[in-house]
Amino acid sequence: MDKKIRTSKSFKSAFQISVAYLLFGMFWIYFSDMCIGFLTKDSDKILILQTYKGFFFIGVTAFLLYLLSYRTLQERHSEYLKYVNDQQIVQIQLSQQNSLLNSLINSSPDAIVIKGLDRRYIIFNKGASEFSGVETYDALGKTADEIFPPQTAHIINTIDNALIENNSFIAHEEIMLMPNGKTYVYWVTKGLLMTEDNSIFGIYGIYRNITSMKDHEQLIVDEKERYDYMAHHDPLTGLPNRLSLIETLRIKTEHMEDHPFALFFIDLDGFKEINDSYGHRFGDQILVLFAKLLQDLFPKNTLIIRTGGDEFVILLESKIDQHSIQIRLNRLIQALNDPFNIDQIEVYITASIGISLYPVDSSNAEELLQKADAAMYKAKNQGRNTYSFYNDGLTQEVLERTTLASNLKKAISNRDLSLYYQPQINPISGMMVGAEALLRWPTPEGMVPPSLFIPIAEERGLIIELGAFVLEEGFKMATEWVQNGMLKGRIAINVSAKQLIHQNFLLQLDELLHKTGCNPAWIELEITESSILEYPEKIIALLGVIKSKGFKISIDDFGTGYSSLSYLKHLPIDKLKIDISFIRDITMEPKNQTIVKTIIALAKGLGMTTVAEGVESVEEMVFLRECGVDCIQGFYYYKPMSNESFGHLIREI
Ligand code: C2E
Ligand code: MG
Ligand code: MG
Repeated sequence: MDKKIRTSKSFKSAFQISVAYLLFGMFWIYFSDMCIGFLTKDSDKILILQTYKGFFFIGVTAFLLYLLSYRTLQERHSEYLKYVNDQQIVQIQLSQQNSLLNSLINSSPDAIVIKGLDRRYIIFNKGASEFSGVETYDALGKTADEIFPPQTAHIINTIDNALIENNSFIAHEEIMLMPNGKTYVYWVTKGLLMTEDNSIFGIYGIYRNITSMKDHEQLIVDEKERYDYMAHHDPLTGLPNRLSLIETLRIKTEHMEDHPFALFFIDLDGFKEINDSYGHRFGDQILVLFAKLLQDLFPKNTLIIRTGGDEFVILLESKIDQHSIQIRLNRLIQALNDPFNIDQIEVYITASIGISLYPVDSSNAEELLQKADAAMYKAKNQGRNTYSFYNDGLTQEVLERTTLASNLKKAISNRDLSLYYQPQINPISGMMVGAEALLRWPTPEGMVPPSLFIPIAEERGLIIELGAFVLEEGFKMATEWVQNGMLKGRIAINVSAKQLIHQNFLLQLDELLHKTGCNPAWIELEITESSILEYPEKIIALLGVIKSKGFKISIDDFGTGYSSLSYLKHLPIDKLKIDISFIRDITMEPKNQTIVKTIIALAKGLGMTTVAEGVESVEEMVFLRECGVDCIQGFYYYKPMSNESFGHLIREI
């Protein structure tokens, strides 16, 4: 465009000059000839004048030609100089660009390569050299096959072929083995190099090393998996936990309706006692061994879950007819006939198992669990070490017990429970010799009888906390009343066997004595005859220690536990409390009279005193007094009364 404009301008100027020269020449010839005609008519002179005129014309035009040529050459020269200058600038700029590009390519952390269509490297930057361990000068002019290990060269060639075939561009992840023996993960961007007229003249490739990013990603994935594992597994046994169970049950009941399964709810019998007697570490080892036993006894794909404490759940999918289940569970019960051996201590443990079936018993995950739980409690009530299938009659009773247990838990932490006191009277003097502390649980629906909630507290492990409350409260009140001179005698406190054999019981007694300032001589601990028979040796030993601390000890409900008389000889006992069942109708029932007389004689013989419980009438009192009973506790004298009422009573006496 520029060139065309310049050409047309030059043409115009040259044309103007030529026309001017033509006109000037014609004008000169014409007028100079006319002037010569005026000057002379002499032909010789005219000839001479015309020669001079010719010289003059040539002189002028030569001068003009000189000026013209000079100007043109001058212009050309300066144009040439300008051109040379421009060329130099372009050269400098080009070389600057080149070195910029070079430093850009070489300072890039990515591997950048360019190949010709013959697949030989034209550019192999520093990054490429660092990743591969191949020097740039070794790579230039070579193909991938000549530099890289065969599998890497194969990847490179395959991508290049695909690029050329599809005339395309690619960007994806690739794992590549380098000649230096290292394997990296690359993000590969590859494309074709084109001329202006769209013909391919090369291939470029940019390889970004994303190995550490990938490692980091993997680390995050691993970490997530680890957290996920921890959230779904029990750290002690490695078994899936309650969360796993709930999720699996939800999937099975919501999405796999036509796959029946059986749910076994397993609770170890007496595990708390083992834990209390041998310590938690020992208990933990039992749980691990039991988990292993379950894994050995059930098929590999069976879901075995530890839901917490000593509770396990098994989800069995194959052979869930009653007969097959019985065979399996009998095998488990049989396996438990062998003791667990830990630190050379042999421990026998049994399990109570409840079974619910999906979808027969329920198609709802939570209900199935609840029903297996209910069936497990039925197995416990049947004497433990057995299994029980869920049936409809079960739920109501078990649900009530479960609700009661959770309400009791709340009541304990809210301190809603309190102690009542029932005086014990010497029938001869009519004097109060002490009082029994009896636990009371008032609710909006009325008093819950201890005979109902104490066994539940024992069953659900709440008795330790509950017992601690009773001891503290009893010690506190005994201290207050004795120190005020109001109570002449002892406060009797009931202690359950589970509480007594708890490993911290003796320590707890010492701490509470210290905390309340109570003297053990002001306290009598009552333990039922039946609970002594649960763990005789252990309890005899413990009672010995308790007695040596200065507490008095009595056997509660005596006569109902069928204890052997030889035990009685060994027990460090001060008092026998004759059970209410022998006092009832004692005036009319000769057999009861004989039993009561025998117990009183036995106690005297062993150097113990006696208390008759549940005396309601004057006849009963008179009869017992004549039999020689030392003390009477019953409605005949007083019903159990609140802390305040008992305080008033002893203040008045
Ligand atoms: P227990 O230790 O044999 O207590 C005597 C029970 O006989 C008390 O029942 C008392 O209210 C009741 N009783 C007393 N005199 C009469 C009477 O003349 N007639 C009748 N019909 N009953 C009478 P209570 O308070 O319902 O306690 C029941 C059982 O609950 C207690 O029997 C004891 O084994 C247990 N218990 C109560 N408080 C505690 C406690 O703090 N810890 C433990 N481990 N057990 C407790
Ligand atoms: Mg009692
Ligand atoms: Mg009793």
